[in-house]
Amino acid sequence: MTFAATVLTLYPDMFPGPLGTSLAGRALGEGKWSLDAVNIRDFATDRHSTVDGTPAGGGAGMVLRADILAAAIDSVPAGPPILAMTPRGAPLAQARVRALADGPGVTILCGRFEGFDERIFEGRQVEQVSIGDYILSGGEMGALVLLDACIRLLPGVMGAASSGVDESFEGGLLEYPQYTRPVEWEGRTIPEVLRSGDHARISAWRKSMAETDTRLRRPDLWERHIGARVQSPSGARRQKDE
Ligand code: SAH
Repeated sequence: MTFAATVLTLYPDMFPGPLGTSLAGRALGEGKWSLDAVNIRDFATDRHSTVDGTPAGGGAGMVLRADILAAAIDSVPAGPPILAMTPRGAPLAQARVRALADGPGVTILCGRFEGFDERIFEGRQVEQVSIGDYILSGGEMGALVLLDACIRLLPGVMGAASSGVDESFEGGLLEYPQYTRPVEWEGRTIPEVLRSGDHARISAWRKSMAETDTRLRRPDLWERHIGARVQSPSGARRQKDE
């Protein structure tokens, strides 16, 4: 099944952009995903091709018009979820990425200027998504980020199938630190345990490092992880065993 990506944007030339190279580019060539970049401006109705207006109530910048956005949304095949890129949206996380990658595809609405007329979110089924607590100049980079995260999970895209399950966030924790050759670099050596060949010790070390690093670097993730362990019956059993 082909994962169908549709991007509604004022800058269709930005696609596939970086997704035309490497893993994603090869997968695109192999038909594992498809891409349609639709120019929102094509749905303007006046001779100046206007897509925006001044903010109601005053203020700086311009706002994308709901009627033009709706015409663009209505022109693309229905089915895949429609996401809008906005800093006001729910923070994108790996669980949502995984669910999207398991589905038929995604339609992404890219904002520009001051963003969208709010009524588009009432008039159409649109999920608002943010890629982080900072402001981009447009939604296109966010769309590229979201698509990259989905595409690497599609069947047959990633080299080793197992490299997807051990990553940061997949188990609610950051990944453990990684090392490779040379064994000694500028006086620093790879931790002895990783060179021991003792798989049980290696796995215990990795688990402990993942937990420590998550606790210190991402107390928000750690709190959620601990909470989930206490709540789920298997987690409770695990805790008793420890
Ligand atoms: N005035 C808006 C920001 C507009 S930035 C506000 O303060 O909320 C212009 C466009 O860039 C947005 O419409 C959105 O599509 C995109 N964008 C900016 N930051 C983003 C983020 N963190 N996540 C997703 N999209 C973002």
